[in-house]
Amino acid sequence: MLDKLDLSTKAQELRELLGGDANSPVDIFSLVNQIDGLTLVFYPLGENISGMCVRDNEIRLIAINSTMSYGRQRFSLAHELYHLYYDDESGFNVCSTKLNPKSENEKCADQFASFFLAPYKSLRTAIKKFAEKSPLSIQHVIALEQYFGMSHLAMFWRLVSEGYLSSEKLDDYSYGVISAARSLGYDDKLYKPTPVNYQRRTYGYYLKQVEELRKKALVSSGKIDELLLDAFRDDIAFGLDEENHGGEVID
Ligand SMILES: [Zn+2]
Repeated sequence: MLDKLDLSTKAQELRELLGGDANSPVDIFSLVNQIDGLTLVFYPLGENISGMCVRDNEIRLIAINSTMSYGRQRFSLAHELYHLYYDDESGFNVCSTKLNPKSENEKCADQFASFFLAPYKSLRTAIKKFAEKSPLSIQHVIALEQYFGMSHLAMFWRLVSEGYLSSEKLDDYSYGVISAARSLGYDDKLYKPTPVNYQRRTYGYYLKQVEELRKKALVSSGKIDELLLDAFRDDIAFGLDEENHGGEVID
């Protein structure tokens, strides 16, 4: 049974543990950078996998599907944080792109992610601010997802779960999102995947370890380059600066 109060409390606790406050929109990638021993990998994981989490006594690794929209990647990272900190079921999770997951564990991780990005109280306050008159329109949903940095569908389902919208409205509220967001004056970054040249990247602990090896001259420079290339960091190995490009994804 999904215990929303417990998940909301856990999300609040983890925000504070990672240095965020309990209520404001968060830069989740920046917060996660501070987790000791965590390696974060961005990789095109295909159409069905949003993210993965591996954890045991020796490794803490989160992988995020970089072909999904930026808003969805933020949601996926919050989802994987649930597995990293609160999931006692196993040390290895592969998570579906579907936002209506079947297993109780996945539902908990999604609900946690939603509370992490848009805390319960903050969402209520924002709804009062952005949408005095109900029902909520697609423009209101866009304003809320932009404020909290959440994917359109993740915000839609959150609003359904809180009783602000009906699930029957999904099709109506999924059409023309990007153009509506642009017309309302928002950046469309939330709806775009990572540019193709940056879709394979490793950050965090692994790179710190490689840097330690380099500094202490424990391995050859060729081996350092090899370790960096294994982590898709030819930009560091060869000092490359890549060019941006990419399409749009609604998820
Ligand atoms: Zn999961």
